[in-house]
Amino acid sequence: MAEENDPKRLGKAERDIVALGIATAAIILFVATGGAVLPDVWRSLWGQGDGPNLFLVNAMLLNIALVIFGWRRYNELTAEVSDRRIAEATAQKLAETDPLTECLNRRSLTQVTQDLCALSQNTGRPVAMIGIDVDNFKQINDMHGHATGDMALIEITKRLRKLLPDHASLARPGGDEFAVVMAYDQREENALEELTMRLCQGVNQRMNLNAVSIDTSISAGFATNCEIPGLYDAWIDAEALIHRADIAMYHSKKKGKNRFSVFEPSMGAELRIRNELEYGVRRGIEQQEFVPYYEQQVDIDSDELVGFEMLARWLSPEMGIVSPEIFIPIAEEIGVISSLSEQLMAQAFQDARSWDPSITLSVNISPVQMRDPWFSQKLLKLLVEHQFPPHRLEIEITESCVHDNLGMVRSMIASLRNQGVKVSLDDFGTGYASLSQLRTLEFDRLKIDRSFVSELSNVESDSKIIDAIVSLGNGLDMPITAEGIEDERVLDILRELGHFKGQGFHYGRPETSAEVSKRLEKLGKLCTDDNSAKLGRRKTVHDLKFDGEEKRAKG
Ligand code: C2E
Ligand code: MG
Ligand code: MG
Repeated sequence: MAEENDPKRLGKAERDIVALGIATAAIILFVATGGAVLPDVWRSLWGQGDGPNLFLVNAMLLNIALVIFGWRRYNELTAEVSDRRIAEATAQKLAETDPLTECLNRRSLTQVTQDLCALSQNTGRPVAMIGIDVDNFKQINDMHGHATGDMALIEITKRLRKLLPDHASLARPGGDEFAVVMAYDQREENALEELTMRLCQGVNQRMNLNAVSIDTSISAGFATNCEIPGLYDAWIDAEALIHRADIAMYHSKKKGKNRFSVFEPSMGAELRIRNELEYGVRRGIEQQEFVPYYEQQVDIDSDELVGFEMLARWLSPEMGIVSPEIFIPIAEEIGVISSLSEQLMAQAFQDARSWDPSITLSVNISPVQMRDPWFSQKLLKLLVEHQFPPHRLEIEITESCVHDNLGMVRSMIASLRNQGVKVSLDDFGTGYASLSQLRTLEFDRLKIDRSFVSELSNVESDSKIIDAIVSLGNGLDMPITAEGIEDERVLDILRELGHFKGQGFHYGRPETSAEVSKRLEKLGKLCTDDNSAKLGRRKTVHDLKFDGEEKRAKG
């Protein structure tokens, strides 16, 4: 096979000596025989002579046939060779490039990087690599379909190409990843970092594809193969260079996406920890290591317990109890937030069924889930499966959701409210929800962010902010919850400012399901006819641990 594709053989075939030799010999013979036969033919036509020698006539005719055969064979061969050359060039292009964007593929990126790195040791010109990953590309595919996703990749390629110098190679090693590799002059290093920044800015412009507007951005990582700038014997190889650009790119992702980072050795350790966390979250979902904790919500005027906010905790076998501030962003990024949230909600509905029917349950929902067009259907299914009444459920969404896609958020809120579920705006005051957004989005409640509430007793201006939020809530007919109440003084100030539902460490830290049951039992608010034992709720690892601790304490 290799021999068949040997370009030398193709070249030989192109100049096929035998076919050409036959045609040439036939032409010479034709001239010779024709020279003898044709004068005799001419003379015999005028009635002179005996006519042409029959043997020579046959030889001449044979020559004519040979000339035609040789010429046709030669032409066919030349055409065949040119077809094969085109086919081989196409095959080579397919093997080296990505068919969608016509960028280099992973294999040829490695090859080009290896070649450049090998060369740089001789020339002293270092090699730079920029690792690029499109932010939230999965959402583009999920929301608008794969055809639009493909168009977005083509548009991103165009934008990158427009900004890159001619000697740079652009590759798409896979999915939504791109990479740029090029040799450069040491003195240009700053210019290259600026180029990386311009690539990020260039892609971060709205695209109009298939009649939809898509806002996209990229995270990039920059690395060079010269370990110590200016020291020409401190080169790293191609594999290490690709790895470093990847590490720097992941660093940008972790820092909030839509940015670029220059590789630093400490990033490697961070990435390892991050990978372990990602693996841990995936395994934790499988092993049901995530459990709901509950924070009390109290009517601050009557001091009556009116509900609980479910706050997720990860009972990691390696790290102990892990805060949602750590694992929720990871679950969002690796695309498992929906399954994690559904698992937690299922446990919470089961737990809350044994509470007094007057007690509500609030659940936090990630912006990623708000972008899922099936979210309200999925929620309804869960509610039905666990026979939990929708009117007892309150969904908390943060202000950042509101900016993502106002139209979609509006219809999601409407659909949830149609099911009887209440929707509140969490952490109000920390985002940028405008008054018009607040008016068009029909929230049932505003939750003032704890940063304003917990400092209430110290900072004069914060009471004015809360005062303003209270007026706003009254104007929009939205009740208000104050979170982060840590002491009696704050509570007193709040009581003066208006009527609130309150929550915070003053009322107690978030508790396990078992602790909540005990609390409600004391208050006479635990339903005995519908308790978790009768419902057959599977005891979680945490319940068992809690039961054990309790027995030890008693015993
Ligand atoms: P959040 O919804 O605003 O929840 C209130 C957070 O404030 C909780 O932190 C709670 O423990 C803390 N907190 C309550 N009272 C006080 C107080 O008096 N002082 C102070 N300093 N803090 C107080 P936590 O449990 O760490 O949750 C952090 C955030 O994680 C939550 O903020 C929520 O946005 C998110 N979260 C928690 N569970 C889930 C979940 O199941 N899904 C999603 N998507 N997000 C969740
Ligand atoms: Mg909340
Ligand atoms: Mg909050």
